[in-house]
Amino acid sequence: MIERTQQLYEGKAKKVFATTDPDLVIVSYKDDATAFNGEKKGTIVGKGVVNNRMSNYLMEKLEQKGIPTHYVQELSDRETLVKRVTIVPLEVIVRNIAAGSLSKRLGLPEGTPMSRTVLEYCYKDDALGDPMVNAYHIMAMQYCTQDELNTIATMALKVNQFLKNYFKKINVDLVDFKLEFGKTSDGTIVLADEISPDTCRFWDATTHEKLDKDRFRRDMGGVEDAYKEMMKRVLGE
Ligand code: UDP
Repeated sequence: MIERTQQLYEGKAKKVFATTDPDLVIVSYKDDATAFNGEKKGTIVGKGVVNNRMSNYLMEKLEQKGIPTHYVQELSDRETLVKRVTIVPLEVIVRNIAAGSLSKRLGLPEGTPMSRTVLEYCYKDDALGDPMVNAYHIMAMQYCTQDELNTIATMALKVNQFLKNYFKKINVDLVDFKLEFGKTSDGTIVLADEISPDTCRFWDATTHEKLDKDRFRRDMGGVEDAYKEMMKRVLGE
């Protein structure tokens, strides 16, 4: 019987607890929302439940497709048992359609399809505002090894292939998303963190309505309803 012990960490959207098994931790999803590197703060009622359940559901599907993840077992609406990992300090961004910071940087109207999948890396550091880095920076700074980066890139593209097709079936365009990877105690790279409306841009494929955190970032209203709608489409409830 695995039991929850002390809190290890509290982040912007989740808390992490140790357990009686040194290789397992419990994540607990909060309703707290932040944007623009913590400048904008708020609450999205029910978000923790949506993100926890959606993320677990998708990670289970990814495992079935042969992609290793940190997911172990859903404990409740907000809590999940996951493998303890050392997080590779990179945000891996995958883009199918231009939006957000890419649109700004390259002067591309939001909604412009990318002729091939774009991968970006940002160094995870709040004080620096998560700056974009390339493979040379990553090697020079030893954020991970070249082999690990190759594994991460291959996995990120596989995750995209699966998710893009999956969301297409529920009439959602997967515009872009952010992944994080971790290393288990035996050195295996696994998909970690979450896959949710906090970390993905989801647009209704017919109306192009935004069904993700951009509604919060851009004060569009209907934030809770958008999260609920995505949960309904993904989990069928
Ligand atoms: N993203 C994220 N966390 C971050 C930055 C980005 O989950 O700290 C996600 C974001 O939700 C979007 C994708 O990564 O789905 C690309 O984000 P972008 O670089 O366009 O940044 P943004 O415009 O959100 O600042």
